[in-house]
Amino acid sequence: MGKKIHIPDSGKKRLVIVGGGFGGLKLARKITGSEYQVVLLDRHNYHQFQPLLYQVSTAGLEPSSISFPLRKIFQHKTNFHFRMASLLTIDPHRKIIETDIGTLNYDYLVLALGVDTNYFGMESVQNNTIPMKTVSEAIYLRNKVLLNFEKALNESKTEEVDAMLNFVIVGGGPTGVELAGALAEMKKYVIPKDYPDIDPNRMQIHLFEAMPGLLAGMSDKSSSIANKYLEKLGVNVRLNTMVNAYDGKILKTKNGESIRTDTVIWAAGVAGLKPGGLPDEVFTKGNRIKTDRFNHIPDFPEIFVIGDLSYMETEKYPKGHPQVAQVAIQHGKNLAENFKRMIKGEELKPFEYKDKGSLATVGRKLAVAELPGIRIKGFIAWIIWLFVHLMQLVGIRNRFFVFINWWWNYVLYDQSLRVLIRPKLFRYQEKIAEY
Ligand SMILES: Cc1cc2nc3c(=O)[nH]c(=O)nc-3n(C[C@H](O)[C@H](O)[C@H](O)COP(=O)(O)OP(=O)(O)OC[C@H]3O[C@@H](n4cnc5c(N)ncnc54)[C@H](O)[C@@H]3O)c2cc1C
Repeated sequence: MGKKIHIPDSGKKRLVIVGGGFGGLKLARKITGSEYQVVLLDRHNYHQFQPLLYQVSTAGLEPSSISFPLRKIFQHKTNFHFRMASLLTIDPHRKIIETDIGTLNYDYLVLALGVDTNYFGMESVQNNTIPMKTVSEAIYLRNKVLLNFEKALNESKTEEVDAMLNFVIVGGGPTGVELAGALAEMKKYVIPKDYPDIDPNRMQIHLFEAMPGLLAGMSDKSSSIANKYLEKLGVNVRLNTMVNAYDGKILKTKNGESIRTDTVIWAAGVAGLKPGGLPDEVFTKGNRIKTDRFNHIPDFPEIFVIGDLSYMETEKYPKGHPQVAQVAIQHGKNLAENFKRMIKGEELKPFEYKDKGSLATVGRKLAVAELPGIRIKGFIAWIIWLFVHLMQLVGIRNRFFVFINWWWNYVLYDQSLRVLIRPKLFRYQEKIAEY
C-alpha cells in the first residue's frame, strides 16, 4: 500500500463517503457537524447534475450551470474534509481503502459511486460510441456535433455528408428520448440560422430501442405519447431493434440492418462501478452491491452502499429500486438519520422508498409526467419538469443561470453557447495529463 492520505485525527469516529453524487452529497450534508468526522472523496472536485447533461451536449446549457464545486458546498464546516481521489480497492478486514492519492483508514465506509456505461461486452460499441454519463463526455459530444456541422460544409461526397449529419442514439430511456428531442430542435432552429448552407432535411436523428416501447420505467400510455412527440419532431424511432456492432462508420443491428453514421451515442445501459477488494458474492449481475434494508453489505457491518450502486430488495421492490436520483437522495437521508441513531444507541430505521413520480421531456415545450395519482402530458408536464429540475440543482447561481437560459431559449429559440472549445494538445502531454 502507498502513502497515507493526511487527515487530522479528531478523536471522533471517521465516516468516509466515496462519491459526491446525489446520494453521497445528501448524506454528507446531513451528517456533517454531527458526532462523526466526515471525509468525502470524489474523483472530480464537483457535483454533477446528470439529468441535464443532454442539454450541455446539445449546447443548451453551459457545463458550469450543472456542476457545482464540492468544496464550496462545505465551506466553513468543521470535522469535514474533502479529497479529490479515486477509490481503487477496499481492505474490509483492516478497514482501509486504497485510492489513487494514497490510503485512508475508516470506521465506517459508504460507497456512493453510482454506475458507469454498460456496453454488454460489445467491444466495437465500447470503442466507437459516445457515452453520456459525465460533464466531460457531454462536452465531448457537444464538440462532436458542432464539428460534424463544420466538416459537412466542406465535404463534397454525398455519402460522407450524410454520415456526418446522421446522428444515432441507442437507448430509448429518458436520456435517449431527451437527447433525441434536443437534437431534433437543433435541426429545426439552429441549422437554418447558424448553417444556412446546410439543408436541414439532411440532418437525420435515429433513436434505436431494443424493447417494444420507449421510457421503460413509465406507463405504456406515456411511452406512446413520447413516441408521438418525437415522430412529430422528425426523429426516426426504431423499436424492437437491438444494435450489436459499430465500427466507427457502420452501425449494425441484430436483425441485419446497417446504417452509415459518424456519431453514435450510447445511452442503452448501466453497470455498477465495481471497487476492488470485495468478494464476488456481494455483487449482482449488473455489478450492483446487495444490501439489507439499512444499506449495509451483509457480512461487512462497517460498509454501506447507497444510490445506483446499491441493490436492495423490499416487498414493494422485489427486483431492487429504480436507479434514479430520488432513490439515491432518500438513501442518503435515511442513512444520515441512522448514523445519528447509531451513536445514540437507538434502533435503526429500515429504508422505504417514497416514489415521487417520473418525468421525461421531449423538446422545448412537451413532456410526460407520472406523479402519484395523476398522469399529465404536454405543456403543463413540461412546466412541472422545468420546476422540478430547477429546484433539484445545487446552488442559487446555477438555478438562476439555468432559468435565464431556458427563458431565453423559450422566447427567442436561440442561445449563444455553441462554441467549439477543444483542449490544445501539448508537447509534454504525459505531464499535462496529471492535471
Ligand atoms: C444522462 C443521465 C440522465 C439522467 N436523468 C435522470 C432523471 O431525469 N431523473 C432521475 O431521477 N435520474 C436520472 N438519472 C439517474 C441519476 O442521475 C442517478 O440515479 C443518480 O445520479 C444516482 O446517484 P448516485 O449518488 O448513486 O451516483 P452519482 O450521482 O452518479 O454519483 C456518483 C459519484 O461518485 C463519483 N465516483 C465514481 N467512481 C468513483 C471512484 N472510483 N472514486 C471516487 N469517486 C467516484 C462520481 O464522480 C460521482 O460524483 C440520469 C442519469 C444520467 C447518466
